[in-house]
Amino acid sequence: ASTTETLEFQAETRQLLQLVIHSIYSNKDIFLRELISNASDALDKLRLESLTNPDLDADTSDLHITLETDSDARTLTVRDNGIGMTRDDVVDLIGTIAKSGTAGLLAKIKEAKENKDTDTDAASLIGQFGVGFYSAFMVADKVTLHTRRAGTDQGTVWESDGEGTYTIADATDLPVGTTVTLHLKAEDSEDGLGDYLAAWKIRQIVKQYSDFIRWPIRMATQATGTGTEDDADSSIDTDGETAGTLETLNSMKALWARPRAEVSETEYHEFYRQISHDWQDPAQTIHMRAEGTFEYEALLFLPAHAPFDLFSRDTKRGVQLYVKRVFIMDDCDALMPNYLRFVKGVVDAHDLSLNVSREILQHDRQITAVRRRLVKKVLGAIKNLQTTNTDTYLKVWEQFGRVIKEGLIEDRDNTDALLELVSAASTHDPEKTTTLREYVSRMKDGQNTIYYLTGENRAMVENSPHMEALTAKGYEVLILTDPVDEVWTDQVPAFDGHRFQSIAKGQVDLDDTDTDTEDSEEAKANKARQKQDFAALLAWLQTTLDEHVKQVRLSTRLTTSPACLVGDAHDLTPTLEKMYRAMGQ
Ligand code: ADP
Ligand code: MG
Repeated sequence: ASTTETLEFQAETRQLLQLVIHSIYSNKDIFLRELISNASDALDKLRLESLTNPDLDADTSDLHITLETDSDARTLTVRDNGIGMTRDDVVDLIGTIAKSGTAGLLAKIKEAKENKDTDTDAASLIGQFGVGFYSAFMVADKVTLHTRRAGTDQGTVWESDGEGTYTIADATDLPVGTTVTLHLKAEDSEDGLGDYLAAWKIRQIVKQYSDFIRWPIRMATQATGTGTEDDADSSIDTDGETAGTLETLNSMKALWARPRAEVSETEYHEFYRQISHDWQDPAQTIHMRAEGTFEYEALLFLPAHAPFDLFSRDTKRGVQLYVKRVFIMDDCDALMPNYLRFVKGVVDAHDLSLNVSREILQHDRQITAVRRRLVKKVLGAIKNLQTTNTDTYLKVWEQFGRVIKEGLIEDRDNTDALLELVSAASTHDPEKTTTLREYVSRMKDGQNTIYYLTGENRAMVENSPHMEALTAKGYEVLILTDPVDEVWTDQVPAFDGHRFQSIAKGQVDLDDTDTDTEDSEEAKANKARQKQDFAALLAWLQTTLDEHVKQVRLSTRLTTSPACLVGDAHDLTPTLEKMYRAMGQ
């Protein structure tokens, strides 16, 4: 005898449902992601329980998820043969929202409403909170759930229109597992054919959000439907009324979840091409797994070449976030700093909500820790290339060095690691770049400073009058021609204890600062005499050029040019001035 009960939703659940149903949800498609994720969890649970409980009489030979549409009834069904629920489970899990944040969320939404914020804000708050099963009511005006818990005989039917109450009744002859049937709202239909009834739409949503779910997601296409024979992996459908074909929609290939030893290079590269839309193989693959309190897997790639829009204002970061194989977001800025925006890949964190938002991620301590670790990994991988595979390192540096150097401005925690990666042109060798460590190893006796000069290109820098004294005296000078060089050299004080010194700025008094020798009596007398000899000329130059220069002084830095312009130690360089002007500052 089946008893049908009509029960009321808990007050908070009811309020939340109202919001889900009546707020404009920016991305309704995610309801399917939520239901598939619940089904996948249920399959995991059944498999685990059958392993640990030999008495459980459950068939785990073909665990899977099936999606079915019925265009006459306008229903979409998500079916799994997983653990299922008892009647009590249904009341507890589906009738109530056990989540602790509900009250807080509702208060926030109310506050937003009182401040006359738009509905969209309420929607985004709901999105942050995560409504799981209830997201079905974004697209359905009635939801029916049939379920039977593995190891029990009694089935349960639950049904609701999401308004204030739900009914619950016993049911007989149900298979083990859960079936969620959505009676789709008419308003989502296009051309009279419900959007979420269309096979292409379902395929697309599954591909986007659930491709790596580890259980097969099959779609039953009616014999007359659009399913192609090629994709069919079975044609038996005993549950349905019409025998059709079953098409598996997801690839299930979550490479990041497999042990490194079991993944071939070809597979890594194929995966890279799939997520990056690159046609070339990556320069380097980084695959890691973190265990402990916050578990995650990361599969990252250094591309071999820069995308065309690397420097455009809104280039996206290349790391996607997954939660237990469910796609959450592209371009996850909380996981990768801007200066590593070229890194592509996937991070799969196990303990996050499916509805976690960018805002929440930005402030999450765990995520900050993950990001710190990923950055170290990436910088370490580049460093490793530098020592073990110089050619590849040089290619990566040529493509991305300009971006990586932004890290010297953005990321003070990693200044030392970043400086180790820097390669720059130098007067030492016209053909090859040098690392800072190599520069230091060639410094003259008593030289403490790393000399550099910035400019638009190598020729301009080499022909600068500032170079003369240094090259004449055999000092090596770094030739820095990227716009970002102007900025970081100004902000990073030293490499390995050696100060950076622009030879175009301030006093570069080679004999005093570098050779440490005290001026002899004779040299001092010499200087004094020169000062006297040139006093009149200097005074005349000073008055004539007063509008344009701060000070005219005698210098020892030139050998053949009669004069040069020097900036104050803290002035903007001409290139930087130009850059700021171009940016409208
Ligand atoms: P969450 O998945 O974050 O727990 P949901 O609202 O999506 O929140 O689901 C609530 C609970 O209902 C789940 O934790 C699970 O116990 C139960 N549930 C939902 N769908 C299924 C299903 N297909 N099979 C078994 N249990 C389910
Ligand atoms: Mg869920």
